[in-house]
Amino acid sequence: AALNDPAPVPVDTHCPYCALQCGMTLVPDAEGRFSVAARDFPTNKGGLCRKGWTAAALLVSPERLTTPLIRDTKGGPLRAAGWDEALDLVAARFRDIRARHGADAVGVFGGGGLTNEKAYLLGKFARVALGTANIDYNGRYCMSSAAAAGSRAFGIDRGLPFPMADIAETDAILVAGSNPAETMPPLMQYFDAQRARGGRLIVVDPRRSATAQRATLHLQTTPGTDGALAAGLLHVAIRDGLTDPDFIAARTSGFEAVRRIAAQHWPDRVERITGVPERQIVEAAHILGEAATAMVLTGRGPEQQSQGVDNVSAFINLALALGKAGRPLCGWGTLTGQGNGQGGREHGQKADQLPGYRKIADPRHRAEVAAVWGVDPASLPGPGLSATELLDATAPGGAVKALMVLASNVVVSSPAAARVAENLRGLELLVVSDLFLSETAALADVVLPTAQWAEEDGTMTNLEGRVLRRARAQAPPPGVRTDAEVLQALARRLGCAADFSADAETGFAELRRASRGGLADYAGISYARIAAEDGVFWPCPDDDHPGTPRLFLDGFATPDGRARFAAVQPRPAAEVPDDDFPYWLTTGRVMGQYQSGTQTRRVPELAAAEPSAFVEIHPQTARGLGLAEGDMARLTTRRGSIAVRTRLTPAIRLDTLFVPFHWGDGQSANALTHAALDPISRMPEFKVCAVRIVRDAPP
Ligand code: SF4
Repeated sequence: AALNDPAPVPVDTHCPYCALQCGMTLVPDAEGRFSVAARDFPTNKGGLCRKGWTAAALLVSPERLTTPLIRDTKGGPLRAAGWDEALDLVAARFRDIRARHGADAVGVFGGGGLTNEKAYLLGKFARVALGTANIDYNGRYCMSSAAAAGSRAFGIDRGLPFPMADIAETDAILVAGSNPAETMPPLMQYFDAQRARGGRLIVVDPRRSATAQRATLHLQTTPGTDGALAAGLLHVAIRDGLTDPDFIAARTSGFEAVRRIAAQHWPDRVERITGVPERQIVEAAHILGEAATAMVLTGRGPEQQSQGVDNVSAFINLALALGKAGRPLCGWGTLTGQGNGQGGREHGQKADQLPGYRKIADPRHRAEVAAVWGVDPASLPGPGLSATELLDATAPGGAVKALMVLASNVVVSSPAAARVAENLRGLELLVVSDLFLSETAALADVVLPTAQWAEEDGTMTNLEGRVLRRARAQAPPPGVRTDAEVLQALARRLGCAADFSADAETGFAELRRASRGGLADYAGISYARIAAEDGVFWPCPDDDHPGTPRLFLDGFATPDGRARFAAVQPRPAAEVPDDDFPYWLTTGRVMGQYQSGTQTRRVPELAAAEPSAFVEIHPQTARGLGLAEGDMARLTTRRGSIAVRTRLTPAIRLDTLFVPFHWGDGQSANALTHAALDPISRMPEFKVCAVRIVRDAPP
């Protein structure tokens, strides 16, 4: 801690990682070093996963960046620099590039781990201080398909439209493409309680994951066939009289076109497409349709596809047709991934959105936000490039010449990652703000060392829409600044007259004003209320409003109050196996690591538990290829090639391989993945492509 900081005391806060945002207490020892203690917060109820328990190691990591770094010549080394030199250089280069190529030539790439305050400030910085349209964030890789489908159906997008505790009380749950038993273990207490009450759980996943192993029924789909499965389930529901005609008539629109598509998805045809036996399709439809209450929850499995929005819509169609939405203990929801995947997209760091979920293309919305920012609405840029397109535009000859990256390790987390790295190397200027020298920071011309998690205040919005307070436990190390301080300093150097407060609570007060009247209305939420009420659910339009734990009970957020069916026709994946690349590849996470691994790979206990990437392969498939447990195998797709060790497991389909995506440097799953984009959400096809696997030749 800094010399002038008070002696450390226990601090109630939340985990630095995923969207569950588990409550925890940081407890100092006599030397002021913190350890994590359980805290009885209403979401995780004292539960933490391995990542949460070991999170305090981040605060003492010897790999921490503590001084800005500058690369004087392309290809040369990074050298230590002072803050003034680094910030002066960045501002001068931004000004120069803007003057030569226009404001949109400077891009900004944010992250779903940023606090609400920082996400808000970053959106304002891009639009007002830089004047660029081109800001997007890595949440595009996470929540964008669910967000688009949720908005299309219900008029508003919130991860879960109900508190996570409701999961324990519903009678039937279908989870498609999510593995919370490994990615969010404390959430499983609600699933376990649900089954203990006699509830039924259906899991859709190409792998018999830890969650699927706890299910009543596991539908082991061929990757990329989620939409067809959902249509098949709806077919059976209609055929067997399981739908709710009164609900459909009274509270929805557009069912007829969906019914026609479902009619084409008879179960034996869906069995051929998905690989799920017909009897299981029928059983699943009956479990959901005959339950008094049911939820349909999607995860990255169906969402991270080039038809991700339509996949989610197909599952929403099912929930609506069964009358399982807009009623207590019912509904569709998405199990968000990143810590602030929800809040990160509400406050304006997304290419098409302004704070409060306002649309940047809507003149009224522009005027509302411009009034808070004290700028002319006409000066605000229009919608910019989405994440993948923004990175594509950094290619030689592309429209983006400089990129500023915060809280994101795009070289590991982006599809077709080798090309991304190559593009970033060729930029006129790459600025990266991070805690550690991530794979992306290592390519930068300027690296800015910034504060983390327990070194600054801020709010996060968890997967159920509960706004939470992350509290500062200690000062950042000497030489480190907060992202807000960096943005404030850069805005001043760029000659921007607008106010950029580096104080989190002041920033939150402005965010509240900017969100007032928007869909994600935070106007009535304050730091004091968050503390007193264990978080507040948005929308919360004024100080006397109790917040909104449950959405849609009195009507959906559409102009006519009805939920909208979407007539979506399932399509094949962008790339399917053939003679050259005969297997499906799917990617995902493991318990001991988080996202691109920038943080968790530097926590000794987690690094020891999961030191490197691997490929899961069925023993029968491995035998046919002459591969044994622990062999080095080379995986190759049309985008790239990596060598990783095998893990043999009968839990995966014979035709499918699984690689976790937490590593870079020759083991990056995203060196293999496909950059085909969903036409609506611009989500890349992370979850499905064609791959070849052979024993790796000895060097
Ligand atoms: Fe942290 Fe998520 Fe684990 Fe909870 S489940 S301790 S929020 S990583």
